[in-house]
Amino acid sequence: MSSQNDFLPYPKGFATAAIHHAQEPEEWDSMAIVAPIVTSTTFKQFAPSQPKKFEYARSGNPTREVLEKVLAKLDNAKYGLTFSSGLGATTALLGMLNAGDHIISGSDIYGGTNRLFNQVATKFGIQITLLDMSDLSTFEKTISENTKVVWIETPTNPTMQVVDIKAVSEITKRHNIILVLDNTFLTPYLLQPMQFGVDIVSYSLTKYMNGHTDVVMGALVTSDEVIYNKLKYLQNAMGIVPSPFDCYQVNRGLKTLALRMEKHKENALLVAKYLENHPKVEKVLHPGLPSHPQHDLFKQQTSGHSGTFSFYLKGGLETAKKFLTVLKLFALAESLGGYESLIELPSIMTHASVPPEQRKVLGITDSLIRLSVGIEDIEDLIADLEQAFKSL
Ligand SMILES: *Cc1c(COP(=O)(O)O)cnc(C)c1O
Repeated sequence: MSSQNDFLPYPKGFATAAIHHAQEPEEWDSMAIVAPIVTSTTFKQFAPSQPKKFEYARSGNPTREVLEKVLAKLDNAKYGLTFSSGLGATTALLGMLNAGDHIISGSDIYGGTNRLFNQVATKFGIQITLLDMSDLSTFEKTISENTKVVWIETPTNPTMQVVDIKAVSEITKRHNIILVLDNTFLTPYLLQPMQFGVDIVSYSLTKYMNGHTDVVMGALVTSDEVIYNKLKYLQNAMGIVPSPFDCYQVNRGLKTLALRMEKHKENALLVAKYLENHPKVEKVLHPGLPSHPQHDLFKQQTSGHSGTFSFYLKGGLETAKKFLTVLKLFALAESLGGYESLIELPSIMTHASVPPEQRKVLGITDSLIRLSVGIEDIEDLIADLEQAFKSL
C-alpha cells in the first residue's frame, strides 16, 4: 500500500464493511455466504396488507436492500437508495423540488447532469444557475429565497478543479439549502463527503463502484431521515429502480473497491508523471500532482485521487484524433472507472452536450484528452502511450 504522505488516511474498516456489512450468512435461511439474488416481482402476505417485509419489487427487493445498506455504510451514512442509473438518481433528486425552485450547480459537471438540469428540469419550472464553485462570494450572492439545492462535483469533470467542500457546506447550512456532492470520481474510499457537511452523496455506480464496466446504476446516500423518506417515496413513485441481478453485480464489485482504488490511484499517478515530462504534452490536470494549483486543498479533503484525469496534447483536433486512434491498450470509449484503461476526447464525446460557448469558458478544447487509467500493468500502459506519441 502506498504511503498516504499528507493525504487523509483511508477510511477505517472500509474493506471489511464492503465484504460483510448487512450480508452475514445468518441474514437469510439458506446461510449462503453470497447474498442471494431474489428475482420475484411480488411477495406473499400473511393477511391483506400484512407483508412479512417486502410487497412488490419496485418498492423493495432483498438483493437491492443488501446493496443499499452496504452503500450507506461505506459513506458512514444512515441510508442508501439505488436507482436504474446515475442520472436516474439525479432525476429522483429533482423529484423533491417544485416548479419555481432553484438549483445552483458547479459549471464544470458531468455532461449528462448539465443536460438533465438545463434541458429537462427547466421544462418543469426549475431554475438552474451554473457557477464556478471556487468563487465563494459570487456563490453566496447568487443564493436566493428559492434556492433549494446546491450540486457539486470535486474534482470537476473534465478539467479537474477542486471544490472546497467544507467552505461550500458552511454556506449551504447557513441558508438551509441541501448540499449534494457527486462522488462518482473518487468513491467513498478516497472521499467521505459527509465528514465535510454534505447532505446527500450521489453516485453513478456504473463507474468505479461497480468497476467492471457491465452495469449501469446510480445511488443516493444520506443520513437525513426526512430527505431519505422523500427519496424512498420517489424511488418507488417514479419507478427508477435497478434490477436484482444488477444489484448483485454491484455488490460483488464493491468487495474489491478498496484494492482497485489503490491500484487506479497508483497507476494514474505514474501515467500523470510520465505525461508531465513528455515534450508533446502541453499540461497535465491531475489533483494528486504538486503542479495542480489546488493540490493542497485536495490533500486536506481526500485520501488521494482515482484513475481519471485529463491533459492537453500539443496540436489541434487532428493530432488528438490521431493519438486516440493509434492507442491499442487504451480503448477509445466514453465512461470511466472500470478495471480497463479508457481514453476519450470530451469536446466531441462525453461533453458534446455542453453548449460550445460554455465549453470554451471551461477550457474543454479539442486537445483536452481525458483518460481513465485501469489496473493493468503500468509498463504496458506507458508503452502504449509512448508508441502513440511516436506516431504523431
Ligand atoms: C457517468 C456519470 C454520471 C451519470 O451516471 P449514469 O450511470 O451514466 O447515468 C453522473 N456523474 C458522473 C460524475 C459520471 O461520471
